[in-house]
Amino acid sequence: MSENKIPYKIYLDESEIPSKWYNLRADMKNKPAPLLNPATCKPMTAEELGAVFCEELVQQELDDTTPYIDIPQEIRDFYKMYRPAPLVRAYCLEEALGTPAKIYYKFEGNNTSGSHKLNSAIAQAYYAKKQGLKGVTTETGAGQWGTALSMACAYLGLDCKVFMVKVSYEQKPFRREVMRTYGADVTPSPSMTTEVGKKILAEHPGTTGSLGCAISEAVEVAVSNPGYRYVLGSVLNQVLLHQSIIGLETKAALDKYGIEPDIIIGCAGGGSNLGGLIAPFMGEKLRGEKDYRIIAVEPASCPSFTRGKFAYDFCDTGMICPLAKMYTLGSGFIPSANHAGGLRFHGMSTTLSQLYHDGYMEATSVEQTSVFEAAEQFARVEGILPAPESSHAIRVAIDEALKCKEAGEEKTIVFGLTGTGYFDMVAYQKFNDGEMSDYIPTDEDLAKGLSSLPNVPEQ
Ligand SMILES: *Cc1c(COP(=O)(O)O)cnc(C)c1O
Repeated sequence: MSENKIPYKIYLDESEIPSKWYNLRADMKNKPAPLLNPATCKPMTAEELGAVFCEELVQQELDDTTPYIDIPQEIRDFYKMYRPAPLVRAYCLEEALGTPAKIYYKFEGNNTSGSHKLNSAIAQAYYAKKQGLKGVTTETGAGQWGTALSMACAYLGLDCKVFMVKVSYEQKPFRREVMRTYGADVTPSPSMTTEVGKKILAEHPGTTGSLGCAISEAVEVAVSNPGYRYVLGSVLNQVLLHQSIIGLETKAALDKYGIEPDIIIGCAGGGSNLGGLIAPFMGEKLRGEKDYRIIAVEPASCPSFTRGKFAYDFCDTGMICPLAKMYTLGSGFIPSANHAGGLRFHGMSTTLSQLYHDGYMEATSVEQTSVFEAAEQFARVEGILPAPESSHAIRVAIDEALKCKEAGEEKTIVFGLTGTGYFDMVAYQKFNDGEMSDYIPTDEDLAKGLSSLPNVPEQ
């Protein structure tokens, strides 16, 4: 089909929403390393994981071999409320940049949570409900995951307890209010309501918190209250599985017009949107059918891939969660409070970590002010006000498109636009007032976090 026939937005029909998720691990020769029990350093069994997570989600977490997993009809029905998500041809951005590159973005911000997180929230809440549980606990950083989970729990009639990183709780009071509107109970973390929160506060008085702290608190509440389980919005294999819907829809939309991407770009916090976006493309790459350049973009202030270590580490600050082998800055790493752009988790998905380690993808880090420059440039020509997290991907998509301009190359670039930034206006305000600075941790700063890595015998 000729170029000018490609519409501004490629929509799929409702009936084309995928009926199965794709499990990337099935096609990996080197599987991601298993989660370990921190007490024994032995792989976590389904039974052990079942104390923290829902049964069906434990099965998904441990399943390294089944390539396609059915999406239950109830979840597909919920997806229909806000999916399929459009794949947009960024004609206006291309023109503004004067690039011969063709730029597409998959927009996941068309729901009240403002991000892709709802794709996994509804799945996790569904399995909790199916197991007959009373409720779920979780952490939230910037607030999108907590909002998504609150929406899913309200829909299914589940109780939802959210520990929100204190700095966000204070900076984003409206996020908190959205969660409460959907019926969730929101506590700033660290708090005095848990043993681990009290301990963290005693050791770090006045701390503004971190995702690692909030995870510890949420897990403690889940395991000490009957009828509750803990759910996590990123990092885990099950979350990447649910998020594969992003990539499957993207691929279906591209296939409709015979478009083959050269470069696929996504921002990386814990790795769920990136893992989901790239899943079917990475599958082709792993099976030797196609080749793509795949780029993970992370903040220079929290650079797990580019400056972290590939090692077993705790996922939480309280060191009560299983150990995961991943690119990590150390569970003791607390990102600078001056960092406004989300993507603050110290570790990374074990699946993406293994793929990066094996050379299947690249990673790059970008500074905060350059991210907001890209965000504003994008907003002014494409209309959408992007989330700071998503804007990391925009930054690198623009940079790659400018390289194409220089080289006179017509590459096709696809990036994930994970969400909208309406609740990030304090950060935008700082940027607009010229008060935003770039904080890049020194090697010494990082050494502190890395020295907290646990000593795990070779597996
Ligand atoms: C949570 C979030 C991210 C980062 O999380 P990943 O698990 O790395 O995808 C990116 N963008 C938005 C809008 C988010 O809410």
